[in-house]
Amino acid sequence: MDIAPEESMPNRMLLEIRGLKTFFYTCEGVSKAVDGVDLSIGRGETVGIVGESGCGKSVTALSILRLVPDPPGRIVGGEIDFNGKNLLQFKISEMRKVRGDQISMIFQEPMTSLNPLFTIGFQISEILRLHKDLSKGAAWDRSVEVLKMVGIPSPEKRIRDYPHHLSGGMRQRVMIAMSIACEPSLIIADEPTTALDVTIQAQILDIMCDLKEKTGASVLLITHNLGVIADTAAKVVVMYAGKVVEQADVEEIFENPRHPYTAALMKALPYPDEAAGSKKELYVIPGIVPSPAHLPPGCKFHNRCASAFARCEKEEPPLFRIAPGHLARCWLAEKCA
Ligand code: SF4
Repeated sequence: MDIAPEESMPNRMLLEIRGLKTFFYTCEGVSKAVDGVDLSIGRGETVGIVGESGCGKSVTALSILRLVPDPPGRIVGGEIDFNGKNLLQFKISEMRKVRGDQISMIFQEPMTSLNPLFTIGFQISEILRLHKDLSKGAAWDRSVEVLKMVGIPSPEKRIRDYPHHLSGGMRQRVMIAMSIACEPSLIIADEPTTALDVTIQAQILDIMCDLKEKTGASVLLITHNLGVIADTAAKVVVMYAGKVVEQADVEEIFENPRHPYTAALMKALPYPDEAAGSKKELYVIPGIVPSPAHLPPGCKFHNRCASAFARCEKEEPPLFRIAPGHLARCWLAEKCA
């Protein structure tokens, strides 16, 4: 099933996820890792998914690529429309063509994705030869070109390096080079800077923003750090316990967070207190994300929420539309809906 963007995409959305449910069937019970997620990404748009570990962000990304390990995982509901076609109806062989070509993924730890036995040039070239049917020479030349685009110095020489010759930051640049090699329309970046030190994190984010502008690709950026989203994304989706709890444009969410979980994530940002001229004490959200196999009744955030009241323990709030493009899953938002 080939995807022809222009002819099959009457609207501007590149990706539209509706009611996605991905469950894991374990001896502990059914773990609802993703439970009814709606999400859309426009062409050339960067959307950030934010939340702590275990909120369902990465499982959402793996579901898009149909890479959820089955068993124990299974996509049990919803639709994932990419360029107007539902990826959930694709055969495995059709999905293989989509991955790396039209949708690529950058993982947190490049060493898990790079093969230590092959040079980086061989690995980038193989992707190009597989998806673009390029000759060996043309694939090699394109590999040099993409390494140059991500700022690898002397790419003609470094292309013969093995992954262990490179620093963590350089390996992540190679992963980004691999992800753009085939000019995908969607790049999914799952915590692409988490394993790197702060200076390198900023460089990698700059490279990603720059490449997005140059290639016109859409980016789905997954992170636990709202600060990363602030500088890169146009739209933010906050996830908690497998569900979207807040969604808005990036400025709106920073100026006017309406879900206590979003507000707590912001409070936990390690920004310096400029007024005091020093670093503020790091805030930690009390408690932990509940296991998706043992979710509490009512609002899933109620046992960590400073604003919780009686109704929150019994009834789960729906997503309230509180302003155009701004949704919040909190009873406190009901009166604004
Ligand atoms: Fe907090 Fe209640 Fe809102 Fe949940 S519904 S976030 S517990 S105030």
